[in-house]
Amino acid sequence: MTGPDPTETDGPDLVVAGAGGGLAGALRAAEHGLSVLVVEASEHFRRGNNTSMSTAMFPGAGSRWQAEAGIDDGPERFVADIMAKTHGTADARLARTLAGISAPLVEWLADSAGLPLSLVTDFTYPGHAVARCHTIPGRHGSGVIDHLARRAGEHPDIELLAPARLVDVRLGDGGDVRGVIVRYPDGAEERIPTRAVLLATNGFGADRGLVAEHLPEIADALYQGGEHSLGDALRIGVGAGAASGFLDAYQGHGAVGAKSGTLVGWATVIHGGVLVDLDGTRFGDETRGYSEYAAELAARRGATGWIVIDETIHEQCLPFRDFRDNVDAGAIVWAADAAELAEVTGLPAETLAAELADSAAAARGERADRFGRTNWERPLEGRLAAVRVVPALFHTQGGLLVDEHAAVVDTDDRPIPGLYAAGGAAAGISGHGAAGYLPGNGLLPAFGLSWLAADDVARRYSHTQ
Ligand SMILES: Cc1cc2nc3c(=O)[nH]c(=O)nc-3n(C[C@H](O)[C@H](O)[C@H](O)COP(=O)(O)OP(=O)(O)OC[C@H]3O[C@@H](n4cnc5c(N)ncnc54)[C@H](O)[C@@H]3O)c2cc1C
Repeated sequence: MTGPDPTETDGPDLVVAGAGGGLAGALRAAEHGLSVLVVEASEHFRRGNNTSMSTAMFPGAGSRWQAEAGIDDGPERFVADIMAKTHGTADARLARTLAGISAPLVEWLADSAGLPLSLVTDFTYPGHAVARCHTIPGRHGSGVIDHLARRAGEHPDIELLAPARLVDVRLGDGGDVRGVIVRYPDGAEERIPTRAVLLATNGFGADRGLVAEHLPEIADALYQGGEHSLGDALRIGVGAGAASGFLDAYQGHGAVGAKSGTLVGWATVIHGGVLVDLDGTRFGDETRGYSEYAAELAARRGATGWIVIDETIHEQCLPFRDFRDNVDAGAIVWAADAAELAEVTGLPAETLAAELADSAAAARGERADRFGRTNWERPLEGRLAAVRVVPALFHTQGGLLVDEHAAVVDTDDRPIPGLYAAGGAAAGISGHGAAGYLPGNGLLPAFGLSWLAADDVARRYSHTQ
């Protein structure tokens, strides 16, 4: 495959802004024979961006690992889950597109990009009808970024420019991309000619003003995402005539360790744990989802609570590096029974004991849970453990509207030639608010849209097809 006509541009075939999920686009484009320049704002992106902080859960509906495990799944089932979780408000075109490529994407990440992925079968994340999330050993995104950045660095057709910030795109008279403007830390700017740019710079979670404007319910909570998620793509894209949407959508989390500052994880709850507030009472069906629990926990007294688990759940959560970090930080407190747990946590003893007895009865099927929770793996038994948690904003899910090729569209739904967006830079498939977020639907648009953008650029530049 050849690049664009050299008289039109002597720059790279594709500029990728952002070395998170954007790295998948860079590798995919290079696989197609394109030359790629990755422009990354932070020299610490391997530990600082959202992908590196993630739990590395990639949904893949109909993957070969699912088939091997005897799990019957496919894009239609995944779309149904997305629509159910978002009450039908997700962008249907994008949901179909991303569900459709989810299995080929995880297989490509394993086979071509070399990520050691496998299916998570020890529990099912809330909202997914079947076990559908794939991850790497350690279940942490730092391993994903390290691996992909190394691959990109080794590829002769991929150049990484970091630290360098994409600050604008230049369009030709026909409204098509002709170049980008990059700013270096010393303030110097450079114009780089190109016919295609992928905005993979994430959302606006680190811009407190934009968060307060669009996501007021979570504006006072901890922000646990990349510090360079400053809304650059939104500003640049809208400036180039793009449409934006779903700006109130976000992924929150109700279980960041108060002591460690690290994710405790919702596997605690899925395996049978409960979340109580400072009064020792539960305040909902925890298994609905962790994203919506961020705002719900933020609204409780002190904006904090305790997740109560037992020894079995503690063991079940140890495969997660983040959970182990909480253990190592001394964030987990232990007790022989509810009375002792009240002492070590400072929670009111009588209420806590009654609450734990109630939920154990519901878990044993002796009575209906007053919040309607039916998803109980087992009742808590034996020694109890608890970890104090705070709510957090992880990333925003609204942004530039894109079509099924990840091409950014204008307000008439027409693609802006050469302009693409992925991940937090683009509007995702979580509908509005926090409750529509399905686990895995951060990385899927980040990697999936990058992948699709690379394919589209290759198609446009192919002189042989
Ligand atoms: C603790 C935690 C756990 C999570 N777990 C999961 C999970 O298991 N599964 C899942 O699907 N999602 C998960 N998420 C969400 C997921 O991390 C994000 O949705 C996803 O990583 C976003 O990818 P991205 O490529 O859009 O952004 P990022 O990975 O943040 O990459 C964007 C990059 O762009 C750079 N950048 C910013 N502005 C510019 C600019 N102007 N020019 C150049 N570079 C720029 C940034 O420095 C950054 O490196 C989790 C999030 C957190 C915080």
